[in-house]
Order: sequence, then structure tokens, then C-alpha cells
Amino acid sequence: MFREARQIVLDACHELADIGFLPGTGGNVAFRASSDVIAITPSACDYYTMDVDDICLVELATSKQVFGQRRPSVELGIHSRLLTYRQDFHASIHTHQPVASAITLLQRSLPIDDADDRAQLGSVAPLIGYAPSGTGFLARAFGKGLRREASAYLLKNHGIVCGGASMPQAIANVGRLERAAKRYLLARLTPGLSSQIRDLVVRSLSS
Ligand SMILES: [Zn+2]
Repeated sequence: MFREARQIVLDACHELADIGFLPGTGGNVAFRASSDVIAITPSACDYYTMDVDDICLVELATSKQVFGQRRPSVELGIHSRLLTYRQDFHASIHTHQPVASAITLLQRSLPIDDADDRAQLGSVAPLIGYAPSGTGFLARAFGKGLRREASAYLLKNHGIVCGGASMPQAIANVGRLERAAKRYLLARLTPGLSSQIRDLVVRSLSS
């Protein structure tokens, strides 16, 4: 059942894990398999031992699981809200990627400075207020914070969510958000910082 959609989710997990954006079992990925069913990663499962049959299928409107032995990701509510709100999106990604997640500690929305990135992400990645991960509180806060023009969101003290019309586009948006977060941090390094420390930060942010 919808094996191709489940394979797309699995391949995306490997791609994101390979670049360090899905540390441990953190983060999750969803893909629209049909008008009313989404494929989504299972909860707390290692991405490299995960099999295509571990990817769950869930009804978008009811959250009822229709395929898979494992429990769907605890962030199902976030993905289903994004994919319901944005009918033009087919893919939704939540990560704990290093720099953009660090930005969420600053407790402010992230302006997107690059014109190409703005065309894809919107002019700002809105900050969603804090609620514990995997809870209905977080899913509801996310639902309230959705903006028509935004494809990327910061979850306060937690991580990020990006959507896209396709899985490659959603993955590209995740990368765009990370680069925008790096540029934002670099631009705010105080001039008083010793050049040694500044070089160290620039090197680590550029790697
Ligand atoms: Zn998370």
C-alpha cells in the first residue's frame, strides 16, 4: 500500500541523517501518499535500521493509522496540520538540525535575507511558541502559527519544520533555512570578539 510514498520518506530520512540533520532518532518526515493519506516515519526508530515497511500510513483527517506495525511519529499532529493547511505541499520535515535549532533558543523569528531563499521560504521563518515535543499543545501552537507565505518554521527551544511541493523541494528548504540561520548568526558576532574566537566560529559555521 503506497509503497512508493513510503520509500520516498525512507530515502529522505537517509539523506537528512547523512548530513547530520536527524541526530539519533530525533526529527521526522511525512509525505502525502494520496488526497487523504500520508506516509510518516515511525516513532523513536533508528533511521539506518528502518525498513520501508516501518513507515506508517495515516489518514490525514482522522490520524487513524491504516498501515504499519510501529506507532507513527509523535509529531504527527505537526505534519498533518501543515499538509492540511498547505494543499500545495506534498512533503513535511521536522529536524533538530544544528544551527537553525540553536537559533530557536534566541526566541525570535528568523528573517530570510537571501532573495532566492525568500522566494522559497517566505520573508521570515516564524517562531512557534514553546510546548513540549510530541504533545497536542505543540501541534495546536503550530497550527495557530501557520502562515500562508511561510514554508519554514522555528519551534522555540526545539527544532524546525519545513514543507515543500515535493520531497526534494522540502529537503532543499531545510538546507536553505540552515544556511540562513548561519548567516544570521555570523552577522551578529560582536566586533569585540577576539579574532581567534571569531575565526573558530566562522570555520565551524561554514563547515
Ligand atoms: Zn523534535
